Amino acid sequence: MDAAKYIWMNGEFVAWEDAKVHVLSHTLHYGNGVIEGTKAYKTEKGYAIFRLDEHTRRLKESAKMTLIDIPYSIEEMNQAQIDLVRMNKFTLDTVYLRPFAFLGYGVMGVYHKEAPVETVMAAWQWGAYLGEDALKHGIRLKIASMTRPANTSNMGKAKASANYLNSQMAKYEAIDCGYDEALLLDDQGYVAEASGACFFMVKNGELITPPNDNSLASITQKMVIEMAKDFGIKVTRRRITREEVYVADEAFLTGTAAEITPIALVDAREIGCGSRGEMTEKIQSTYFDIVFGRNAKYEHYLTYID
Ligand code: PMP
Repeated sequence: MDAAKYIWMNGEFVAWEDAKVHVLSHTLHYGNGVIEGTKAYKTEKGYAIFRLDEHTRRLKESAKMTLIDIPYSIEEMNQAQIDLVRMNKFTLDTVYLRPFAFLGYGVMGVYHKEAPVETVMAAWQWGAYLGEDALKHGIRLKIASMTRPANTSNMGKAKASANYLNSQMAKYEAIDCGYDEALLLDDQGYVAEASGACFFMVKNGELITPPNDNSLASITQKMVIEMAKDFGIKVTRRRITREEVYVADEAFLTGTAAEITPIALVDAREIGCGSRGEMTEKIQSTYFDIVFGRNAKYEHYLTYID
């Protein structure tokens, strides 16, 4: 990874190499931590963080769900991220921010109430999550052999570190089988989400994406729905079966890191033209215009770093 200069840790900026934890930190053993993934883009007016407040709010809500009491307000954490991007003096087009909270050192055993909460904001320069080529030509998805955990046994709405064991196993399997990314079904067999992104498909001019019944309430998914409606595209949120995915006209993934990544193939079936489809391209180019500050209509989603 591309190291930066500073990390914000519990209210203070520390040198990147000094942001350390004890090996007996609670989260390292039992996995209760919460993360965010936020992105800043270099616009003509300098760096801007995309939908900052919503990401920070989701961190706070994820923490509430998993019983972690973050001792900072949303405003304080927003400010920390603004300062962090400014202080690190980045130069590349895209910067990834990773705000997170975890349980530190001092208590062992599963019961975590007395474990100290550590709050951290890190940021570093990071390009296209699935590669530049993927944004143009699309990726190959494998439907994972594991499903997303059922709502009766986990909290998929929390962006909780523990949820990423499932993502990690699915992603590893997909890559090991020669694919690029995993698509996970829910325990009823309907499309849930990819290992770190949401799923959209196009059929007969209609854009279809699952409800967040068994997936993270994705901020990029929400953005795409808003944009598509503005274009006059019919958007439907409903459950999607595996067979429908195979015969979609187009499909793509959305996420802060994945941005708008076309899907070229799923389980040996080419999707549409087997590359980036027309509607996908339109949504992708509009998305990049928005995040890079080239679309005045959506500029209110940008927090500029002065
Ligand atoms: N699902 C999962 C499991 C994710 O990790 C992500 C990335 N945060 C998403 C969906 C997309 O969410 P967002 O658009 O808010 O980044």
